[in-house]
Amino acid sequence: MHYPKDVEIWEHAPGRKLAEVVVRMRNQKGALAKFSQAINEGQVNMLTGFFTAPNATNIATLSFFADITDAPLGMSDLKKRLLSLDMIESVDVMTAEDGFMVDKQHFPVQWAGRRAIVMRAEALNEMLNRLWAVFGTGAVTIVDQMAEAMGRHSAKEIIEDFGAKFATEQLDELIGTYSALGYADVSIERSRSSELPLVVNAKELFECEANAKQKVVRRSAFFRAHLRGFMSAIFDKDFDVSEVQCVTEGDDVCSFRVALAESSVPRLASVLPDRHHPDATQSKF
Ligand SMILES: [Zn+2]
Repeated sequence: MHYPKDVEIWEHAPGRKLAEVVVRMRNQKGALAKFSQAINEGQVNMLTGFFTAPNATNIATLSFFADITDAPLGMSDLKKRLLSLDMIESVDVMTAEDGFMVDKQHFPVQWAGRRAIVMRAEALNEMLNRLWAVFGTGAVTIVDQMAEAMGRHSAKEIIEDFGAKFATEQLDELIGTYSALGYADVSIERSRSSELPLVVNAKELFECEANAKQKVVRRSAFFRAHLRGFMSAIFDKDFDVSEVQCVTEGDDVCSFRVALAESSVPRLASVLPDRHHPDATQSKF
């Protein structure tokens, strides 16, 4: 099960009778139309929900909260209607009488096929701030080491899944994972002549945005180290990442310069892909 980013994990409709419905159906032409018709006939009012149809399987999942207060035929009727459709594999229904319902049916949450948890950005910021409060500047080391390990771990999983060659060739797309995860809205800048160093712009970066709101001038510790760990593991070489612009210092966007660590430059230069000059030698580094 994949959660899109805007899915609600609960529904609150005071005084109403709610249901959570999870329908698994074969991913075939017209399936959604037949499903919609059954919902309409059951007079169920769909609230928030999501639909996912992963490539790896022919089974699609449609999941939603519903207000069933005014559904005269009830959920057993709806379930029967849905199961009578030939493409429906299963229908699971849970109900709540008191207008409040938490999504408990989608455990565990998956991210790219792996077990994941969802954490609010504010909660993570609170944890980071607590580290600063307790350890002062020593917090930088703790956050740095923790985040670098996380970045390396993410990269290793990608390499396990797709291979090292794919990871280096798809670097731009992979760095977009930071957007998908909600860390920041990221984009990459490169100079015309060289693949590295590159600049990662992180708009609305969660940790700096929170600090800027509180007028705390403190550059990124978490994202910077995560990016360094990620790049280092993707290329199996040490990288340096420095934040050259930061919203906490009045800049429009946080920007990170990503470069090979000095010791890695000579050996890695010849293996990096170069989209601008495929035949270029390592001399530009
Ligand atoms: Zn920043």
